[in-house]
Amino acid sequence: MDPTGKQDTEVTYLRALHAHHDGARGLHDDHQAAHEFFQSSTISALLQGVFDGDLTFGELAEHGDFGLGTFNALDGEMILIDGDFYALRDDGKAHAVAADWKTPWATVMFFEAEHEQDVSGPLDRPAFEALLDDLAPKKNGFYAIRLDGRFSHMKVRTVRRQERPYPTLVDAVKTQPVFEYEDISGTLLGFRLPDYTVGINVPGYHLHFIDDARSCGGHMTDFTLAGGHLALDHTIDLHLEIPEANPDFDAAELASGDIGGAIKTAET
Ligand SMILES: [Zn+2]
Repeated sequence: MDPTGKQDTEVTYLRALHAHHDGARGLHDDHQAAHEFFQSSTISALLQGVFDGDLTFGELAEHGDFGLGTFNALDGEMILIDGDFYALRDDGKAHAVAADWKTPWATVMFFEAEHEQDVSGPLDRPAFEALLDDLAPKKNGFYAIRLDGRFSHMKVRTVRRQERPYPTLVDAVKTQPVFEYEDISGTLLGFRLPDYTVGINVPGYHLHFIDDARSCGGHMTDFTLAGGHLALDHTIDLHLEIPEANPDFDAAELASGDIGGAIKTAET
């Protein structure tokens, strides 16, 4: 209309940005923050042995109630479920996590299901992934997945605490402890990310498991579902936090070698 009208529009826009910023700082009722995919550091750094980060679990909790990752010194697989963090260590057991512990790599979000359905079994991992590919057709989109159910078979691995000088992730997982369970109830949760995220995160399916008793679990490598309930969320917002004062991260060669191949070896 006139210069005054234009100015009003700009002021409104800046206020909207400010409101979104506040929301991302922990106001769960902000719709976009609820679905924002929040990540600290990159999988390529973890592959290179950058196993110590600066972000505390207390800080991470402000960005999600759902997710996965690991701990400083690679001291276990992390699962975040219903707002509770667990360390799934090399004893196969789930341990409570203190707010001042830190993570070198984690991915979290506030999960709000956009699609839910019951899933009947038996359904093995390839069949489950085929079902999800039908339900989540955007190959270039970011999906969060939660499957609560009874599993006739569940195979997980965990990671073992490492000492400096740290090995690469591929070398660290060569001695990974593997645990297999028969007829166990629990939750598989994680993400399906597009191929173009290679180096930033893990392309394809990446799911962690914890049992209903919150006593055991790990990074899922195989399973057969007897029956359960599936929930899916999807997001278009990515927040990537780069370590700010971390000499290991600064020195790492994050684009060298066969990153996709290394991720497949270390994470599937
Ligand atoms: Zn994992």
